[in-house]
Amino acid sequence: MKTGLRSACFVCFVVLFFGSASWAQDLGPGFTKVKDGIYVYAAKDGNSTCSIVLTEEGVVIIDTCQSPPDGHKLLAAVKKLTDKHIRFVIDTEVHNDHTFDHFIFSPPAIVINHEGATEGMKKNTDPKRAETLAAQSPEMREAVKGYRMVTPHIEYKNRMTINLGERTFELIYLKNVHSEADEAIWLPKERVLFAASAANVRTIINLRPFVRIQDVLASYKLMKSLNPEIVVPGHGAVSTTKIFDEYEGFYTLLLKRVTDMARQGKSLDEIKKELKMPEYADWAGQDRLGVNIDVAYSSMTK
Ligand SMILES: [Zn+2]
Repeated sequence: MKTGLRSACFVCFVVLFFGSASWAQDLGPGFTKVKDGIYVYAAKDGNSTCSIVLTEEGVVIIDTCQSPPDGHKLLAAVKKLTDKHIRFVIDTEVHNDHTFDHFIFSPPAIVINHEGATEGMKKNTDPKRAETLAAQSPEMREAVKGYRMVTPHIEYKNRMTINLGERTFELIYLKNVHSEADEAIWLPKERVLFAASAANVRTIINLRPFVRIQDVLASYKLMKSLNPEIVVPGHGAVSTTKIFDEYEGFYTLLLKRVTDMARQGKSLDEIKKELKMPEYADWAGQDRLGVNIDVAYSSMTK
């Protein structure tokens, strides 16, 4: 009897704990409930995040997941949560691991990203990608069925506000931080910020040559000034503005080291050979330090 009571209490504890904490157990592994009606999904650590925001007037999806099987899982989760339509897909960037699965949601969804997104998506998508994926496994072949490239129906300039039901979405362009069109999505009432791939979580990011460190740092300043309670990065676990502080530290130090070495007359090749960032040795993506040095070097003059 005593044991029965104890195990009943344990069940109570588990229900109370997980029921009130951030796990969205009912949606399956990889889902995190960040606020009422707001869920973030990443099938595994390091995958791109894709999110569901429920409103009285329908559903908004932010990014459409790492790969097609994940996109279908996100769609299944939407169907579990609501019978309302998916109204919008909002992209935080243009790369495949955030945009390839638009076909799963649109139609009916209208896809939105900043000016330059369509061009960027076309540039970054291998036309044979669907075929290559389909050859990987029967599951993947099933998941890419019906694929067609869906580029944004709406491209805006600098800022856009969407009012849907009880929620407001502020779309804020982030210049030169990661892809051809990056945007932060800010929900001011809920104080939830989707931060694109300007910052991830303790990972050296693959920086493209057009990225400018000063612009990346400016994006952190801007996003911190919104005073978000929750920050959802493009990749990595749901966090807070502490990720901006961490990356600010990383890029500031990187830029300082590159500038100091260049002033000593060292060439880019020499800098790449000598420069180390031991303070960040535990971050993932160490093989990307070289491209980060390239970008820091070109950021000195532009
Ligand atoms: Zn990307």
